[in-house]
Amino acid sequence: MQYDVIIAGGGMVGSTLACLLGQAGKRVAVLEAYEPPAFSPAEPYDLRVSAISRASQRALVEAGAWEGVAARRASPYEAMFVWDATGDGSIHFDSAELGEPDLGHIVENRVIQLALLDTIRALDTVDLYCPDALADFTVDEEKVVATLQSGQTLHAQLLVGADGAQSRVRQLAGIALETHDYGQKGLVCVVQTAQAHQATAWQRFMPSGPLAFLPLGDGSSSIVWTLPADRADAMLALDETAFCRELSRALDYRLGEVTAVGERAAFSLRGRHAEPYIQQRVALVGDAAHTIHPLAGQGVNLGIKDAVELAAQIRQAHGDIGSAKVLRAYERARRGDNVLTQKAMEGFRLLFGNTLTPWKILRNTGLSIVDRMGFIKYEMAKRAMGI
Ligand SMILES: Cc1cc2nc3c(=O)[nH]c(=O)nc-3n(C[C@H](O)[C@H](O)[C@H](O)COP(=O)(O)OP(=O)(O)OC[C@H]3O[C@@H](n4cnc5c(N)ncnc54)[C@H](O)[C@@H]3O)c2cc1C
Repeated sequence: MQYDVIIAGGGMVGSTLACLLGQAGKRVAVLEAYEPPAFSPAEPYDLRVSAISRASQRALVEAGAWEGVAARRASPYEAMFVWDATGDGSIHFDSAELGEPDLGHIVENRVIQLALLDTIRALDTVDLYCPDALADFTVDEEKVVATLQSGQTLHAQLLVGADGAQSRVRQLAGIALETHDYGQKGLVCVVQTAQAHQATAWQRFMPSGPLAFLPLGDGSSSIVWTLPADRADAMLALDETAFCRELSRALDYRLGEVTAVGERAAFSLRGRHAEPYIQQRVALVGDAAHTIHPLAGQGVNLGIKDAVELAAQIRQAHGDIGSAKVLRAYERARRGDNVLTQKAMEGFRLLFGNTLTPWKILRNTGLSIVDRMGFIKYEMAKRAMGI
């Protein structure tokens, strides 16, 4: 089988790229190892959700998948309140002050992937191999040849690794990876609270790590609680009553008591950055290229920006779309933004994790000053939203 592009990984980032390329008339093969379970609105919210920025929403509209997301479920949030547990510094963002209907949407990862896979299935230009996986590949001057676990062989001008943090494409290509173990875990679950969340994303920074409550459409909240790995394991082991008590206290009762909690899980947090993102006829996007601390919920938003940029470079290319010129232009356009965001998250993590008094004063004063500086504050918000 002959394609323009083979994409290993049909997660949120790989599927976005496939839709953008397929709509531009490129012949694309998407390899996805797992078929996501079907969605029913009667089901409780999934554990894994993402805060989707306006820029990512626009990309999903362009990819032809946002309608499918909205038709399933997406929870807009209108405000964000961030505060420091060690002082009285806080910052508040409101979509109305920005003249926007919302600051973004909280969406289940599976909902985004299902909507994108529906679009892929409707495109004549894209073939989905699912469940199937990339087993190996070879590259020469003219083409890349991918072998699938099913034994099929596919040819293309370019192979894209969108296969997540443990990327097989990255490993097979021998691309180096810089890693940083934060020694922390992100504990996630869906909870009910005594008080309404007011369509607001709440985030409290504690020396042990941030705790975020992300508002969901049915009044519940999806939480991401960053903790030292051993404390996260201890929290997972608590019974429901004790866990709700600890969580209510950790959010400083901002939404009253946490009254119920669903299934809990914790993910080890590790920063990664591939060096480089590209090799002969190979490019990495999304978590295959970089993973960052989830404290500002930017991981998939960066990945979708990678997909948009690579699709743009491929669409503009004359001739060979897997050429070094096309791939270098992609890497040049994306590396800076990804590195900057990764470093900024690291800076926030260190700043808010520091218990020394001068740092406490600095961050609390800083938060309160920025909160009063309308212009700077809203420039920051617009940048995070991608508008
Ligand atoms: C606790 C936590 C909270 C987070 N919250 C947010 C948030 O609020 N906002 C945000 O933007 N980001 C968030 N992130 C980050 C976000 O989840 C990731 O950045 C995002 O899932 C990356 O998408 P991806 O498509 O690159 O990779 P993945 O989601 O990992 O998808 C990779 C896909 O490739 C498939 N695959 C793997 N190997 C192969 C193979 N060999 N062949 C074929 N298919 C293969 C997999 O089955 C999978 O479907 C969070 C992360 C964590 C840990």
